[in-house]
Amino acid sequence: MVYVLFGPPGAGKGTQGARIAAQYGVPTISTGAIFRDNVAAGTPLGLVAKDYMSRGQLVPDEIVVQLVKDRISEPDCAAGFLLDGFPRTINQAEILEVMLGEAGIAIDGVLDFEVGEDELVKRLSGRRTCSKCGATYHIVAVPPRQAGVCDQCGGALEQRADDMPEAIRTRLHEYQAKTAPVLAFYRERGLLREIDANASPDEIFAKVLAVLPTAAAV
Ligand code: AMP
Repeated sequence: MVYVLFGPPGAGKGTQGARIAAQYGVPTISTGAIFRDNVAAGTPLGLVAKDYMSRGQLVPDEIVVQLVKDRISEPDCAAGFLLDGFPRTINQAEILEVMLGEAGIAIDGVLDFEVGEDELVKRLSGRRTCSKCGATYHIVAVPPRQAGVCDQCGGALEQRADDMPEAIRTRLHEYQAKTAPVLAFYRERGLLREIDANASPDEIFAKVLAVLPTAAAV
């Protein structure tokens, strides 16, 4: 199965991606998470991506495309994968279409998580991420058992640099200007599955399962 998880920052792509991945046994390829790992490790890719990310801007297409190309050719992607945060521009969507076509892979669907802007700002500004395992929390909606400490691995929770108010504004603007047009691209191809994501993670997941094939059929 190959699905694209689509929607503005804070829509719940990461949370739902983790659940879908667990249910269907396919990896989630999160370009944002790969960049964050590279920034943390101080790799050349991380050094390039860091400035764009901390300002809330998109990393240039050619860098992201190469990263995805390398990742989907790894053996764990043979039975399928989820794309979280990619494609984010029409150019990326067109390149992905060619890339997958050459590999004989078809996208099964694009799950579009729709959330109002006020709710997105609330979610992003309260989000905390584990510095060790990447698990996400929200200071009000999904608090950890002990403030500042990850329930799963005991790592320290931190606020992403791009979840600060100025960067949030830029990211939402980038989404509207460059990413939202990708919706029409997938609508034209009959792949878009719209999901009202103004709900709890459990409720959203129920809606996701309703549009995905049953796990046994994959
Ligand atoms: P995310 O975790 O998906 O919100 O991504 C965090 C940041 O990584 C974004 O604000 C961008 O700076 C960068 N990024 C992630 N995916 C892409 C992409 N497909 N194209 C360009 N930049 C990206």
